[in-house]
Amino acid sequence: IVKVENIRKRFGGNEVLKGVSFDIQKGQVVAIIGQSGSGKSTALRCINHLELINGGSIQVCGHEIGSPHIDLRRLRQDVGIVFQSYNLFPHLTVRQNIMLALKHVKKLSRRVCEEKADMVLRKVGLSEKAEQYPEQLSGGQQQRVAIARSLAMEPQVMLFDEVTSALDPQLTGEVLRVIEDLARGGMTMILVTHEMAFARRVADKIIYMHQGLVWETGGPEMLENPQTQELRDFVGTGL
Ligand code: ATP
Ligand code: MG
Repeated sequence: IVKVENIRKRFGGNEVLKGVSFDIQKGQVVAIIGQSGSGKSTALRCINHLELINGGSIQVCGHEIGSPHIDLRRLRQDVGIVFQSYNLFPHLTVRQNIMLALKHVKKLSRRVCEEKADMVLRKVGLSEKAEQYPEQLSGGQQQRVAIARSLAMEPQVMLFDEVTSALDPQLTGEVLRVIEDLARGGMTMILVTHEMAFARRVADKIIYMHQGLVWETGGPEMLENPQTQELRDFVGTGL
């Protein structure tokens, strides 16, 4: 469902991705780990066409990223992305935040938008917060709303970029539980995460990035048995 082939990305003279390849089958959960600056976020952003690649190719859900004919509207429906910052609209209630994209992108009726919003709020365990405003929620709850908003579009793939790194441990747990539920429910997803224990438990495949390259990849057991010194060091410090 996602095929990344030999992608390169430069910012000025700084080559951040130096030929990165991986693929993901439908229903798989892939965790991308690696040191700060190794290119994890950039790789994720390339997949969603938020950054343009300088070489290689990416296919996502039948979209050829970088093609001049790409239908960005369809791509953004098929691929959901959630960041560390939740970017909720402060002047809209939780339900209205979720309905906004449904109304404008999917052009659904108000009633259908409401039903879908309430359904995804149930999924993330926030039904009782529908009428509240973002500032009335904890960071973890706001992040769950951001996830719900993305889910409401019924994406085929979800991308998560360190969605818990701004949260304290207790709130992190509730957000990770939501992501784990999605994984168990068969959602295809790519998680950039520093939560190694979580990656170990939830991911079908782990990609360790180092200096703009896929340095090591394999099943979750690779974390116990690193093949490279770099991953050994990373796991040693990262746990
Ligand atoms: P972290 O764990 O800190 O989030 P990361 O692995 O996600 O790190 P990236 O954000 O992909 O790393 O950044 C990789 C490199 O690309 C860094 O050296 C960064 O400075 C550079 N970079 C990222 N975005 C830009 C940009 N818009 N313009 C210039 N350089 C950028
Ligand atoms: Mg990052």
